[in-house]
Amino acid sequence: MMQMTESDVRAGNMGGNAPDQVEDYDVIILGAGINGAGLFRELSLQGVNCLIVDKADFGSGTSAAPSRLIHGGIKYLETGEFGLVSQSTLERNLLLKNAPHCVEPLPTFIPSFSLMKGAWAALRTLLGSTTAPRSRGALLIKIGLALYDIYGARHRVMPKHQFLFRQAALREMPEVTPRIVAGGIYYDARITRPERLVWELIKDGLDANPQSRAENFVTLEGRDAGILRLRNSRGAVRYAQGRIVVNAAGPWIDHVNATLGVSKKLVGGTKGSHILLDHPDLVKSLKGRMIYFEADDGRICLVYEAFGLALVGSTDIKADNPDTVKCEEDEIDYFLESLKSLLPRLSFSRGQIVYAYSGIRPLPASDASEPGLISRDHSSPTFEPTEGRPFALVSLIGGKWTTFRGFAEEVADSLLSRLSKKRIQGTQALPIGGGRDFPTEPAARRRWVEKKSKQSGLSAERVEALLGRYGTTADQVIAHLPDASNDAPLTHLPDFSTGEIAWLARSEMVVHLADLIMRRTTLAIEGRMTAAVIDELSIAVARTLGWDEVRRRDEISALTGHLATYHRVRL
Ligand SMILES: Cc1cc2nc3c(=O)[nH]c(=O)nc-3n(C[C@H](O)[C@H](O)[C@H](O)COP(=O)(O)OP(=O)(O)OC[C@H]3O[C@@H](n4cnc5c(N)ncnc54)[C@H](O)[C@@H]3O)c2cc1C
Repeated sequence: MMQMTESDVRAGNMGGNAPDQVEDYDVIILGAGINGAGLFRELSLQGVNCLIVDKADFGSGTSAAPSRLIHGGIKYLETGEFGLVSQSTLERNLLLKNAPHCVEPLPTFIPSFSLMKGAWAALRTLLGSTTAPRSRGALLIKIGLALYDIYGARHRVMPKHQFLFRQAALREMPEVTPRIVAGGIYYDARITRPERLVWELIKDGLDANPQSRAENFVTLEGRDAGILRLRNSRGAVRYAQGRIVVNAAGPWIDHVNATLGVSKKLVGGTKGSHILLDHPDLVKSLKGRMIYFEADDGRICLVYEAFGLALVGSTDIKADNPDTVKCEEDEIDYFLESLKSLLPRLSFSRGQIVYAYSGIRPLPASDASEPGLISRDHSSPTFEPTEGRPFALVSLIGGKWTTFRGFAEEVADSLLSRLSKKRIQGTQALPIGGGRDFPTEPAARRRWVEKKSKQSGLSAERVEALLGRYGTTADQVIAHLPDASNDAPLTHLPDFSTGEIAWLARSEMVVHLADLIMRRTTLAIEGRMTAAVIDELSIAVARTLGWDEVRRRDEISALTGHLATYHRVRL
């Protein structure tokens, strides 16, 4: 912390009040989505003092709205983004090792509706044309899968693809329309709890460097010379300065740069939505696989099982207001019609939807005719210091959830050189959060559960549930639970206990009820919200965080309003 004198601070943007105290950091990161959080961990591990702030909760922006795939990006082969596929397949393979508690293989079926279609269009795109194939025939898919295997060879942990002609493909996936002529089966990965992984990266960063700080519900409000004015949700203002400022605000990047006095259009978003259906027949027909398919308009859709529900996505529509984005009726029509066309013997209706969500992809500004043709690669344009702005301003543009580590590594290396510091530690082989010492083999998992169960007096079933939810961080949860006899299961949510909720609220920077229900746990997306569940959880959180009855009721009303407006959850 540095004391400021009056002369250090120009008034004006500071509202005429010179700050008494200004926090001093090497790097300030604005925005704690996956890109900001990844960089925060990467830099903190190198001994760089960082402050990361988010105007809302950690990981509540676009990073809360993905298809939940950790994937090599097979579809980027058709836009010729080979570098991105190479990096994404590597990062996918690394995440399977470094975050095994929440990243797991996902066998995928890709149907083909013709033999040769799309080959010429693909060739034209590779040669620089701005049209994409509207249909991908069997030949194109076979070539794509073979290339995907080659790109995925580094740190490979999953089998190579199989290619099946019609009869064999239909034997594997009997509910799929008999219009297919062939199908491929290949492996990608999924992330069961992206919400928690963002938090775990923040936590790892805090543990790595005691000088680093992370704060949710703190908004960048303005700047005067080198000093940033930050306001929290209770209205308290503080000031901070960094040698470098990183704008990791995803789809809000242009807005944040403008607040810092830099106006240049860097991002142009496209909106994508998902729905979750309570549809046991659909889930059964998937046989544990994702179907990655071409809808009738040539766009790529996907459906796979998540939390016993069927996750369906996604759309790709030009849009730019990330604060009000939600899944609209025409997107739902599109999903239901596409599913019907793919799986004609099953029936689909709005009544099966238990949850919906949307986000804006923070893609680089582009004038491509089709949203699908805008590059999904990342970049970090930098505005060098000026006379009135003594820090370099680096913006994290684009990127995939999957590639956050590689992106963070690249940006960290360039920031380290600006700061004249050396890298201390690599992250390629560094486990994340509850992935540390995670027992991946069934026998090791059984031993872990038995040992913790014996030590704590909790049932093996309960320890297994905690390991499934938190990875090896379950160790800390268990250590902080009251003794087994006092750790009461919740009446309306018996697989959670009062002690577990108290631990989450106390240890994981929960500020609002929604943080606990939508991000520290996956209760909302699992479709488990009822008025009784919310009431009971709010009582447990209120007790831990010292909320009075007015605050508790306000929290319930804010959460239920948000769930109804943005996620189609009616209680
Ligand atoms: C529909 C869809 C599906 C996708 N599916 C996948 C997928 O399956 N796999 C994959 O790898 N990728 C996927 N992606 C891409 C991936 O989700 C994004 O690239 C990634 O989440 C972007 O993260 P980010 O950190 O840049 O942005 P964000 O997560 O949006 O983070 C930006 C943060 O900045 C904060 N912020 C904004 N303004 C301020 C301010 N003034 N002060 C402080 N903080 C501020 C916001 O609150 C927000 O938390 C998908 C994206 C979408 C939209």
